[in-house]
Amino acid sequence: KNANLYALFESRFPQDKSACAIETHDGLYYTWRDIERATAKMANLLASLDLPADARIAVQVEKSPEALILYLATLQAGYVYLPLNTAYRAAEIEYFIDDAEPAVVVCSPGNFGWVSKIAFQAGTKHVFTLSDTRQGSLLERANHFPDTFETVQKKPDDMAAILYTSGTTGRSKGAMLSHDNLSSNALVLHDYWCWQEGDVLLHALPLFHVHGLFVASHGALLNGSKMIFLPKFDAAEVMHHLQRATVFMGVPTYYVRLLAESYFNRDTCANMRLFISGSAPLLMETFREFERRTGHTILERYGMSETTMQASNPYDGPRVGGTVGLPLPGVSIRVVKSTPSDEFAPCTVDEIGDIQVKGPNVFHGYWRMPEKTAEEFTRDGFFKTGDVGKFDARGYLSIVGRTKDLIISGGYNVYPKEIETFIDEIDGVNESAVVGVPHPDFGEAVTAVVALRPGAKLQEADVIAYLKSRIANFKVPKRVHFVDDLPRNTMGKVQKNVLREQFKDG
Ligand code: ATP
Ligand code: MG
Repeated sequence: KNANLYALFESRFPQDKSACAIETHDGLYYTWRDIERATAKMANLLASLDLPADARIAVQVEKSPEALILYLATLQAGYVYLPLNTAYRAAEIEYFIDDAEPAVVVCSPGNFGWVSKIAFQAGTKHVFTLSDTRQGSLLERANHFPDTFETVQKKPDDMAAILYTSGTTGRSKGAMLSHDNLSSNALVLHDYWCWQEGDVLLHALPLFHVHGLFVASHGALLNGSKMIFLPKFDAAEVMHHLQRATVFMGVPTYYVRLLAESYFNRDTCANMRLFISGSAPLLMETFREFERRTGHTILERYGMSETTMQASNPYDGPRVGGTVGLPLPGVSIRVVKSTPSDEFAPCTVDEIGDIQVKGPNVFHGYWRMPEKTAEEFTRDGFFKTGDVGKFDARGYLSIVGRTKDLIISGGYNVYPKEIETFIDEIDGVNESAVVGVPHPDFGEAVTAVVALRPGAKLQEADVIAYLKSRIANFKVPKRVHFVDDLPRNTMGKVQKNVLREQFKDG
C-alpha cells in the first residue's frame, strides 16, 4: 500500500468529480477534476526536474487555490513541502533557504528579484513564480505537461513536509513531518470532529502554517467537502460567507474581530455546525461572549508544528472554555514536574508541570539539528512541548504558558497566565502580558504590559493595588507598562520576547 498522503486524499475524492472542491471569494469554481488535473500537471513538472527523492520545495506565495495545488503536487511527486510565511523578508528568507537548501523555490512574481538572488546564491537550481491571480512561470510551465500522474510510492516514515515553527520563543526550527504523521492526524481529526456529508469549510487561514495548511485543508480534502477560500481573514467577508458554510477554523483574534461586528449574531451562524479555535489561547471572555451572541460553543484544540494536533475538546461531550480538551485518540499526553534529569515525575490533578507528548503525530526531529532534537525528547520517547499546563479531574488539559515564559522571581515560580487572568478582570483592561525581566536581587522581576480599552484611565498604581488584594506579593508586578496593542505574530501569538527586550530596563 502507498503511504503517500496524496494517495489517501485521492481515495477520498467524491465519486462525482464535477462537484465543486474550491470556490474563491471572487467567484471562481474548481471542481475535483480540476484539482486532480492541475495537481498532476504540476507534479509532472516537478518530476521533470530530476530532483533527489528528499528535495525540498520551498514556497512563499500569496494564498490561492493554486498554492494548495502546489502543496498537493509536491506530495504526489514525492517531494518535501516547505511553506514560508508571506510576511518574511530578505533576512528571514535567507535564513530559511540557507538552512533548508531547497531544490526548488516558488515565490510571488513581485518578489522574484530578491528571492531568486538569495536562492541562486544558496545553490537552488529552480525558481518559479506564482501569483494569487494565476500568473507566473509555475503555471506557464506546468501547463505543457499531461494532466495525469501516477502518485509516487512513499513509506510511512518518508518526509512529506518541513514546517518551520512560528519563532515565538526564538529562532524558527524546521519540524520534519512524515506522510504518516500527517495522515494519521488527519484521519483522527476527521472522526473526532465528525466531518459529515454536506459540510462546507470556510477557509480564511493562511496556507503556510499547520492550522490552515493541514488541519483545515486536510479535513475538507478527506471529507470530499467544498472549501470557500478567502485570501485572508476579513470579518465582513467571513460573515457574508458563513451563511453557506458549516465549518470554520480560526485563531482567537478572528473570533474577537467577529464579535466586534455589531451585526454578528445567531442569524449569521444559522447554517454553521462547528467553530474551532487554536494556535493561541482563547480568552474565557471570548468563549462566553461567542456562546451568548451565536449559541455556538467554540471548540478549542491544541497543536504545534512538531506534533500537528494533540488535544481537542470533544465534539459531543462538554467543551470546556479555558481548556484544550482531552488527548486525541492514539496520542499520549502527560504533565510532569520540571526536573533537570530525564526521570519524569507525573503531576497530580490540577498540579502545574511540563507537557510532554507521544504518538503517531509526533515529528521525526528538527531539520539539521540533531542535538536540539535529542534534547527535546525524553529517554522514553516523549516530546517536550515547551508548554506548561495541568490536567483537571475530568482529564481536560489546560495550558498555562510556556516553559520559557515561566518567571522565577526570588526563587518562586510565577506563572504569567495566572497574573494575566487577574489583570484582565480589571475594568478598562483590554488585554495583558506578564513577563520576567532581569532584576539584581530577585533574578527576575515580574513586569506587566497592559493594553487598555479606548477611554480607560487606569494607572500603574491602580493595577498594583488591585493585584495586591488578590495574589501573593511575590507575584505582583513591580512595574506596569501601558501599550496600545500587544505585539503579535501572524498566528496571533503574543511575542513575549519582544516585550522582555522592550521593558528589560524596568
Ligand atoms: P517557536 O516554537 O518557534 O517558539 P511556536 O511554538 O509559537 O514558535 P507553533 O508550532 O506555530 O510555533 O505553535 C505551537 C504553540 O502554539 C504551542 O506550543 C502552544 O504554545 C501554542 N498553542 C497552540 N494551540 C494553543 C491553544 N489552543 N492554547 C494555547 N496555546 C496554544
Ligand atoms: Mg514551539
